[in-house]
Amino acid sequence: MLSRVARPVATAAGLGRSFSGSSQCNAKVAVLGASGGIGQPLSLLLKNSPLVGELSLYDIAHTPGVAADLSHIETRAKVTGYLGAEQLPAALKGCEMVVMPAGVPRKPDLCTAHLFGMTRDDLFTTNASVVADLTEACARHCPEAMICVISNPVNSTIPITTEVFKKLGVYNPNKIFGVSTLDIVRANTFVAELKGLDPARVSVPVIGGHAGKTIIPLISQCNPKVEIPQDKLQALTERIQEAGTEVVKAKAGAGSATLSMAYAGARFAFSLLDAMNGKEGVVECAFVRSEETESPYFSTPLLLGKNGIEKNLGLGKLSAFEEKLVAEAMSELKASIKKGEDFVKNRK
Ligand code: NAD
Repeated sequence: MLSRVARPVATAAGLGRSFSGSSQCNAKVAVLGASGGIGQPLSLLLKNSPLVGELSLYDIAHTPGVAADLSHIETRAKVTGYLGAEQLPAALKGCEMVVMPAGVPRKPDLCTAHLFGMTRDDLFTTNASVVADLTEACARHCPEAMICVISNPVNSTIPITTEVFKKLGVYNPNKIFGVSTLDIVRANTFVAELKGLDPARVSVPVIGGHAGKTIIPLISQCNPKVEIPQDKLQALTERIQEAGTEVVKAKAGAGSATLSMAYAGARFAFSLLDAMNGKEGVVECAFVRSEETESPYFSTPLLLGKNGIEKNLGLGKLSAFEEKLVAEAMSELKASIKKGEDFVKNRK
């Protein structure tokens, strides 16, 4: 049972770390893309949570098997598998939260032996349609649900989700989240490694977007405070920004981060469920509609509540190095956002 392995609630630097959820509720949560590399372990973690009463597993392949397998676990959440587009409305009906890891992941370009292979933006062609179709179904069948998008490129899939919800007249900016939690999880781990700290006690806000140089770790706001010389700070920042590529290369064709992403997705979902359940002071970073910078979407620490975002806590005080990173991220960020918005505008 997860209660034995669950991480205790540890709040540092205002960032919530309530991994398993501290209380009980009966939320109906859908996972779209539930049979995939992220979807399966994420569904396992959700099945183990006392916060989840019903788990709705949707994919275009294998969901009956994944659901049958998970349904034997001795926890309360009722698991149902839904397969194919005609079963999507039933999967979504009554959901309070939708977590979406559907689509294709990055792979290295083995044909050209390209070291870095695909960028997250290369996924746009396939994933833009997948996300638009799935979020359209959410807007029709569970318009009040919290929508947590994992599918990349997040910098474009969140503008896509927003435009789809707007088109159907059910848009609420406080309920649409691009899940960037893995960047925070990685930053906490790498800083802890570097400084010999317990990673469970380290909290680094990561702002901006979720791709390459748009990922901006705020080491100056790390809790506990850490001193890192400039050359090491540069290398640490670059490692956090390219950590996804580290996994893509190590998996050598087998995809991108799945297990750590499932952990991160579950952490975000549990924080949000806790907040929806009335827990106070829950803070997570996510890529959302924002007025904090010149970019119309931006990730910053968010105070979460019963209705989603309660308050955007903003960027806080940045070092000169971090200010430069923000300035350098803007053009890529704005271009990815526009690409997502244009995709929905030009869609028939
Ligand atoms: P995967 O290929 O293992 O799984 C994707 C799943 O989506 C498959 O089961 C597939 O059948 C399903 N799918 C495809 N089209 C679908 C549709 N129209 N409806 C429902 N399901 C559909 O990939 P993965 O490794 O699990 O990655 C999933 C996504 O998450 C990718 O876009 C990847 O880039 C992204 N990702 C995001 C982060 C992040 O930090 N936000 C981190 C890692 C990966």
